[in-house]
Amino acid sequence: MLSKLLRELIEGKEPDRAALVRLLTLERPDELAELYAAAYAVKTREVGRLVRLRGLIEISNICTQDCCYCGIRRSNERVTRYAMTKPEILAAARLALEFGYGSVVLQGGERSDPAFVDFIEELLHAIKTISGGRLGITLSLGEQSGETFRRWFAAGAHRYLLRIESSNPRLFAAIHPSGQSFENRLRCLDELRLAGYQVGTGVMCGLPGQTADDLAGDIEFFKTRDIDMLGMGPYIPHRDTPMGRDFDYRPARQLEAGLKLIAATRLALRDVNIAATTALQTLAPDGRERGLLAGANVIMPNLGEVGHRGDYLLYEGKPGLDENAESTRRALLASIESIGEGIEAGAWGDSPHFARRLKR
Ligand code: SAH
Repeated sequence: MLSKLLRELIEGKEPDRAALVRLLTLERPDELAELYAAAYAVKTREVGRLVRLRGLIEISNICTQDCCYCGIRRSNERVTRYAMTKPEILAAARLALEFGYGSVVLQGGERSDPAFVDFIEELLHAIKTISGGRLGITLSLGEQSGETFRRWFAAGAHRYLLRIESSNPRLFAAIHPSGQSFENRLRCLDELRLAGYQVGTGVMCGLPGQTADDLAGDIEFFKTRDIDMLGMGPYIPHRDTPMGRDFDYRPARQLEAGLKLIAATRLALRDVNIAATTALQTLAPDGRERGLLAGANVIMPNLGEVGHRGDYLLYEGKPGLDENAESTRRALLASIESIGEGIEAGAWGDSPHFARRLKR
């Protein structure tokens, strides 16, 4: 029965809610293997066996938001706050060019004060200049005004990642303080799209109180919103957060939830870019490779030097704290090779979905 469903999905059938729930609740190892193999078949057909790399630059952990799951939330006073300078960020961008990563992601805590908005705008111009326009630039800097999104787009950013975290408004409310609204996230996703960005979103899975039906709803949300790229990962607790204190943490269960979500999303959305996130690698040394084999096709290797990595802890157990950009790269290339995939060097690596959506 499962084989029949998977075969239909490979052939292009749209999974309904019940089919998605079924995939997301599989537990038998042989059935999980079948699910991942089906998702891998769709991935290789739609986006190839090449991993797209985005060099990740964690520009700052200063944050004005207070997400209940996140280690760098405003209320966490144990964090040593930092902000990379423009020369430091440009040096990281040069490394991305040198390594052939093709694009960078500027990620950080959320700020929307005028000085910050100006700083990012100048930085975008500078990255375009030093790379002769060759480096693609994704931003992951949280909720902003429509005007800010438009200014940053005009300055050279062309992709933006903003996870909805959960498409169930009740669950969203349970993991955020009352001042942070689901409606504002939706507004941001709409404005990003209108501004011309390729829009990325995503959710965490394995959250307290989250059901398979919630996750099936998340996949339908991605589909309805015609999303171009996805970053999804299992929730991992951080002890200095309200949610992290009493969580019944079982890494193997969280990893499996993450892999199932990637696979089901690949089968439902087909031609999008899906990241194998650092959270997977936190749960198992080969977590990201397993993500690739379950349908993901993007990896975001950290370009940071040893110094700040330990201060950018969204959750505990983040790997690679003792690595620099070069050793991270070497380990990554070896692991990609170990599963028989290659890397797409030097390209922006947009999702085929984005090109198709422009033609519609
Ligand atoms: N402030 C930016 C970027 C940093 S957070 C933004 O909001 O986009 C990036 C993502 O990390 C979040 O969207 C969230 O899904 C994830 N994240 C944060 N804390 C986490 C945790 N404890 N476990 C797993 N993922 C987490």
